[in-house]
Amino acid sequence: GKITIAIDGYSSTGKSTVAKQLADWLEYVYVDSGAMYRAITLYAIEKGFISETSFDSDKLIKHLPEISLTFVKNSEGKAEMHLNGRNVEKQIRTMQVSEFVSPIATISEVRSKLVDQQQKMGEGKGVVMDGRDIGTVVFPTAELKIFMNATAEQRATRRYKELIERGDAVTYAEVLHNVQERDTIDTTREDSPLRKAKDAIEIDNSEMNLEDQFHIILQLAKD
Ligand code: C5P
Repeated sequence: GKITIAIDGYSSTGKSTVAKQLADWLEYVYVDSGAMYRAITLYAIEKGFISETSFDSDKLIKHLPEISLTFVKNSEGKAEMHLNGRNVEKQIRTMQVSEFVSPIATISEVRSKLVDQQQKMGEGKGVVMDGRDIGTVVFPTAELKIFMNATAEQRATRRYKELIERGDAVTYAEVLHNVQERDTIDTTREDSPLRKAKDAIEIDNSEMNLEDQFHIILQLAKD
């Protein structure tokens, strides 16, 4: 039968790439939960609720009911994030959004809105969802839980390559700093979203290619 696969872990561990591949192979629904936190962050930036110098979380909380997030498949069948009907797939991957997303993700009202929606998206279907709290909060009863890890340097290298390929003007040092900063915010809060579920299987993919990871997880899903 169809199962729920939760893939959690640190940023830029390549969670989404392997999660997408698995979902394609198994013909499951794939949900990138980070994209949803990123889209709310983009909304907050555009409305002026968060900037380098200010952060008005109350305003954002008040506007949460006005935010609609949907995944829409493009012509190649790739799901893209839409914010209030607008395709924001590119904008949510910028360094600016990456800088503000972790503080936005600490707002409990933001988390409960997204967790609710994520649970609905997975209801009664085969689903692969990646994020930080999927195995602990969103789907605590998931049949398979993976926790991905890799060194910060490895993760920054991967992210740097992605950003450069997209033409973003960033330095490796900036990317490494952002990866480490998000790790700190994501792990040091009292109710940190990034926790390894007791029954999660940890995979350190620093020295693994995508194919190895795909086959390891696929085998676990079949067991
Ligand atoms: O996965 P991605 O790196 O795109 O996620 C961006 C940020 O969103 C994370 O650094 C984290 O702060 C937040 N996030 C979260 N819970 C999730 C997914 C993402 O708090 N389930």
